[in-house]
Order: sequence, then structure tokens, then C-alpha cells
Amino acid sequence: MDFQLTKEQRDIKKAARKFAEGEIRDIAREYDQREEFPMDLWKKACNLGFVGVYIDKAYDGPGLGFFEYALITEEFWRVDPGCGCVLLTAFGTDLLQNFGTEEQKRKFIPPIPKGEGIMGSAITEPDAGSDIFRVKTSATKEGDSYVINGTKMFITNGSIADYLAVYCLTNPEAKSRYERYSFFLVEKDRPGFQAKKLKGKLGIRASDTAEIILNSVKVPQENLIGGKEGQGFPQVMDLFNINRVIAASQGVGVAQGALEQAIAHVKGREAFGQAVGKFQAVQFKLAEMATMVEAVRLLTYQAAWLVDHGEKNPRLIAMAKWLAAETGVRVSDDALQLHGGYGYINEYDIERFYRDSKIVEIYEATKEIEKMTIARHMLGKF
Ligand SMILES: Cc1cc2nc3c(=O)[nH]c(=O)nc-3n(C[C@H](O)[C@H](O)[C@H](O)COP(=O)(O)OP(=O)(O)OC[C@H]3O[C@@H](n4cnc5c(N)ncnc54)[C@H](O)[C@@H]3O)c2cc1C
Repeated sequence: MDFQLTKEQRDIKKAARKFAEGEIRDIAREYDQREEFPMDLWKKACNLGFVGVYIDKAYDGPGLGFFEYALITEEFWRVDPGCGCVLLTAFGTDLLQNFGTEEQKRKFIPPIPKGEGIMGSAITEPDAGSDIFRVKTSATKEGDSYVINGTKMFITNGSIADYLAVYCLTNPEAKSRYERYSFFLVEKDRPGFQAKKLKGKLGIRASDTAEIILNSVKVPQENLIGGKEGQGFPQVMDLFNINRVIAASQGVGVAQGALEQAIAHVKGREAFGQAVGKFQAVQFKLAEMATMVEAVRLLTYQAAWLVDHGEKNPRLIAMAKWLAAETGVRVSDDALQLHGGYGYINEYDIERFYRDSKIVEIYEATKEIEKMTIARHMLGKF
């Protein structure tokens, strides 16, 4: 067992930190306030190879792993979670890489790491979130095409994506509910495709989120991911497993960033004749925060490392995702408290971190669903 990062991983982490400090810190508040996706930042992040780091060299990616993706995510989110979401523009390329036909991989993956395209994955619907068996967007075969009808909700990159992987019901009569679904690639310029940007999010406001309406959208059979109907359920589980590791690294990053802001503040702020950071109660709080961050970082690294070594361990991934998310929320809350009244004003970044942290407890499965996964793996059928 080796707890050291390799030289290459240390270099990647350092480069990601330098980029985040240099390119994100100064623009973060503005993009949060404007609720706008930072296009220039996304381009720069692609040019430097930060987007889709796990994409194979065969598809024009850097050919690294999910561990490296987690490291970069942590560094971007440490500086700003909202702008850190530029990394999510590759969301779905992992699905294509793992399950797509060779033709689909060659056509749809290469534009993403090069900054020539944006992708997303659309599973959630207005009436189907945690319970994905309620998904009713349908894809019906007509000759050599499929016709898609339905509405997808809360889709990251929805109004800026060039194409989305859309989770559809193809075989409603299949005996096993696990064989009823399929993923399709849907390009934004297909007639009947409509994206409505959602505004007014609590946090990660620089990230694009949209409702997608699919009104008799016709896609060719070649857009059925993997080329075979009924494969959607194992594919979506794989997508969730991998991306929950990344969500965990978001939790680590937001918590680390909040902790550092708290440390800086308590060293400078005085009360009762001394710096606030000299009070033992404050020191104990910081010690607890730092210990939690370190613990979830280890759990997240372990889950990410296992993914790169061929083991997508749903129990461990759910543990990492839940605890890192909760730690992000708790540490941001504690850090805001340590700022006193200044924490409540948007002049200080901690106000934004407090809002941004919450999303990790919700997307890529809520923390309750993560706990269900952990319990199911412990208890089995009884
Ligand atoms: C900013 C943002 C970005 C998103 N991006 C995407 C995206 O790119 N693609 C995508 O497909 N989706 C995306 N989502 C959707 C997200 O994954 C869902 O919101 C999430 O899975 C929860 O589903 P829901 O909102 O329908 O909540 P519900 O499923 O309605 O849950 C409501 C509450 O009930 C609880 N609950 C449900 N079932 C149980 C149970 N069995 N036991 C105990 N508690 C339960 C939940 O934990 C939750 O607290 C995004 C959401 C947001 C807010």
C-alpha cells in the first residue's frame, strides 16, 4: 500500500491548483452573480488538458485516469465550485468510452477534450429522480430511426451541450425492468429538441442547468449507445458509480476551500483582545474540520484508485460520495460561522461556498440514496 501520489499526479495537482488560482479565483463571484457558464474558462481548461483527462489517447484525450480527474476536480472546487463545473462538460464521455460502438466513440468523444464540443447526460425527469424506474421518456423504433418523446429535468450543460446521452424507455413490456431502458445520443440541432435554461439555483450558478423537451425527436439507429436495446440500466449504473467518485472529490474540494478561508479569517479577526483563532474553542472547531476533510479525501482517493484498477465498488463509492458531500456542507457551515457577520455577505467567498456545497448532497443521487446503497450491500437479501 502506497499513500504517496506519483510525481505525475503531484504535477497534475499542482498545475490544476495554479490554473484555478490564476484563472478562476478572480472571475468566480461575477459568474455566480450572472448565473452564466464561463465559456472562455472552459476553452482554456480544455486547451490545457484538464477536461476529460480519463479519455483515451485513441479518442484525442490525455489518457489518464479517474484518480487524476478527482485530483483536478478537488483543486478547481477548492477555488470555486461553480466555475469548477467546467470539468463536467465531458459528462457522458465515460459512458461512451465504456459502452459506445467504435463508430460512436470516434464521432462523439474527440471534440470534447479538445474544447470543440460539450456533452451532458440526461436521466432525471420532472417525475423521476431517485427512482429511475419512473423514467418515461420513450424511444420508439420507426424503420432505421428512433423517435424520442419526453421531458428531462435539471440537466447539467443542457442549454450549452452539443449532444446529450438521453436515458429512454425502449422496451416497456420487457419482463425484467432492468431490460427496459436504452441510452441515445441526441444532438441539440435535431428538430423537436428544446432546452430551457433554469435560473435561480441556490449554488453552482456558473454551471448550466436546463430542462430538455424532446418532441418527436428523430435519431438514427447509429445513435443507440452500444448498438443494442435494453442495455441502459447497467450503463446508467456504471455512469453513476464513476461520477459519484467525482462528486465526492467535489465535496473534498469545497470543504478544503472553506477550511482555508476559515483559517485565514480567524488569524486576522480580533475579539476580546486577541485573534479569534487563539480561542481554544475555535482551534478545536478547526481541528475537527481539518480531520474530516482529510478522512473524506482518503476515502475518495481509495474509491477513485479502485475505479482505475478495475473495481467500481458501489458500497465504497456511496460511502465516499455521501460523507464527502456532508463534509462539504458541514465544513462550509462551520467556516461561515467562524466568519461571523462577514460570512453572511457576498463580499466574502464563504457565502458562495456555503450555497455551492449543498448540491453534492443532491445530485448523482441524494445522500439518502447513497445510504440505501451502503445498507443494501451490507445486508443483502434477508
Ligand atoms: C444543479 C443540478 C444538476 C443536475 N444535473 C443532472 C444531470 O446532469 N443529469 C441528470 O439526469 N440529473 C441531474 N440532476 C438531477 C439530480 O440527480 C436529482 O435531482 C436527484 O437525483 C434527486 O432526484 P429528485 O430531485 O427527483 O428528488 P426525489 O427523488 O423526488 O427525492 C426527494 C427526497 O426524497 C428522498 N427519497 C427518495 N426516495 C427515497 C427512499 N427510497 N428512501 C429515503 N429517501 C428517499 C430523497 O433522498 C430526497 O431527499 C441535477 C440536479 C440539480 C439540482
